[in-house]
Formats: sequence, C-alpha cells, structure tokens
Amino acid sequence: MEEAMLTKEMTTEQIEAGLRETSEEKLGILWQAADKVRKENVSDAVHLRGLVEISNYCVRACAYCGLRAQRRDIKRYRMTADEILTQAHQAAQWGYGTLVMQAGEDYGIKAQWMADLIRRIKDETPLAVTLSLGERSYEELGLWRQAGADRYLLRFETSDKDLYNSIHPDLPGKKSDRIEILKFLRTLGYETGSGVMVGIPGQTYTSLARDIAYFRTLNLDMIGIGPYIEHPDTPLGRSSLCRTAIEKDRVPNDELTCYKAIALSRIVCPQANIPSTTALATINPIQGRELGLMRGANVVMPNLTPFPYRVQYEIYPGKACMNENAQSCQGCLGKRILAIGRNIGTGAGSRQRK
Ligand code: SAH
Repeated sequence: MEEAMLTKEMTTEQIEAGLRETSEEKLGILWQAADKVRKENVSDAVHLRGLVEISNYCVRACAYCGLRAQRRDIKRYRMTADEILTQAHQAAQWGYGTLVMQAGEDYGIKAQWMADLIRRIKDETPLAVTLSLGERSYEELGLWRQAGADRYLLRFETSDKDLYNSIHPDLPGKKSDRIEILKFLRTLGYETGSGVMVGIPGQTYTSLARDIAYFRTLNLDMIGIGPYIEHPDTPLGRSSLCRTAIEKDRVPNDELTCYKAIALSRIVCPQANIPSTTALATINPIQGRELGLMRGANVVMPNLTPFPYRVQYEIYPGKACMNENAQSCQGCLGKRILAIGRNIGTGAGSRQRK
C-alpha cells in the first residue's frame, strides 16, 4: 500500500492492497489518513442514534443470523407502539438526534401500523427516524416515507452474488435484490444506508474491495461495517454450509480487517455517516468502539431496546452491552466519546452533501 494512493478515487486494486496491508507503519498511515478525512468532512462530532430492536420475528432463512425463521427454540417478541414511543421519548430526552427502529423481516409489522407509529414519533419528538426492517414492498417503503421516515438501512452484506445467494436465500417467488431496493429508496428521498459483514466464510479480499468501491458507486449516505460473528445455531455458524476461499484470499473476521475496511470506506466516501458498530464492540469490548471512531467512523448507536427484548434480539451471540440497560449505555458511550477528544453531535446529524 502506498500513501499517495489513499484518495477518494482509489481503484478497487488499491483498496484491496489496503485491506491486505500488514505493516504496522503503513497501517498507521492508513488510520491517520482516514481520521483526517473524517475530521475535514464530518467534523469531530459523534452522532448518537438510539437503536430500538422492535421485533425479532423473521421470515428469512439467512444462514448467518440468529433470528432466522428456522430457529424454533427462541422466544419471539414484537414491541407495542407505546413501548417504542417510550424509548423514542427517552432518546429525545438524552439528546440523541435519531431513533433507529430495526427488526427481523417481520410482516406482523403492518404497513399502516408502522406509518402511524412514525407519524407519532415525528409529531411528539424532534428525532430523525431511521428504519431497518428488511426487504419490504415498494408500497410500504413509500408509505413510511410519506409518514415521515428519514432514512433506511439495508446492508447488501456482500457484493459477491454467489456468496450472497448462498447465505441469504430468496423468499419463495421473490428475488432478493437489495441493490435495487437501495436505488428505489433513494428515489423516494430516503437517506440511504447499506453495508457489509467482514469475514463471511467464502469472502475474498477482492470481493471486500469491490464492496467498498461499490459504496462509492452507490453514493451511500450511511455505511455500516462489522465483523461476521459465528452463531452456533445457524448453518453458517455450524459450518454445514461449506464455502471456503483459499487461505491467501480469505478475509478474516477479525478486528484489524474491520478497521481497514472502515478506514478505506471513509477515504472513498468522505461524507458518509459511518458507525463504529456493536459487532466491533462485541469482538473488542475494551476498545472496539473507540478504535472504530479513531479510524474513520463518526456515529455510535447506543442500544435503547428494553429488557427482556434486548437479550432476545440475538443476531449473534455475546452482543456487546446485552446485559446493560439504556441508561448505562448512555453514560458509558458519552464518556468514551469525550475521552478520545471528540464531542457529542447535536441535531439529526444528516449527511451534508457538498
Ligand atoms: N432484518 C433487517 C435487519 C437485520 S440485522 C435486515 O435484514 O436488513 C442488521 C445486520 O446485522 C444485518 O444486515 C447483518 O449485516 C448483521 N448481522 C446479522 N447476523 C450477523 C452475524 N452473525 N454476525 C455479524 N453481523 C450479523
């Protein structure tokens, strides 16, 4: 990896060289470059997005995810509108700019019910509303936008089509095309977010480099990157789904590779909002959040899901902060942000398009 190549226009081959870099000295240069681009483009403010995991029902059979429909042994929940509103008010009171409502792909979340809830949140609080509810119909996405939803998160997980299809099977009669949905969301005026998991079995450095170049092509407003974490009760976690890449091309699901992916994404998408993810904090509870923020990220998503639901939303095991409550997450994250010389963002923290 050469320092001069670390520009917004870097090629996919150069991104791959960055991902493969092992020299500590050169990685130091990568972290510095990403941090500089972050500071110049999105400032020192770290925006807080309160995350409420509103349902763990899911119709999908994703091979990586602990919420997959085939898991019959977990307790499913769907929060009530009032329970969610309580958390929205809490978020506003703590000065968070955004409420993120995430769930499995749950068709028990009815379109009109969700639209009414979005309207109430927008009426009663100053929060920006972000949805992360999976691959819903264009009508539903339109209805929610009309109701006032500001943003939508839908990770494409990997740009390697074969790998994607093997870990994210279609629903009967319905092709999963997340890229098409992302483009549609943009036409509706949503701020649009996507992202990938790092270290999916079978993922190569070349395909991860393409993912990052693709973030730039899609001109994403938000980019979420976290390590793939094995869940033992899933096909991918049990390794019954056998996809391997040869050793030298295989992307590890480790911390360092995630930082490289975050740093390179910041360099190619200077103005995007990039969270330091919970998955990263899960594999390094001591410093994961901070190192993500120091290597390109500018957003943190404190978990606002109340008990017992936050334990039941187990997409992967050992999720960071699972046994904390919203209050302790609030205090802890605030301290961590100030301790690295950053400040807490005010307002909605939308992407500024220059
Ligand atoms: N149903 C929504 C939200 C899913 S959870 C959707 O599909 O968009 C949000 C993200 O968690 C997923 O997009 C995926 O990238 C991540 N995730 C799921 N299982 C994971 C695992 N085992 N390890 C790491 N990340 C995982």
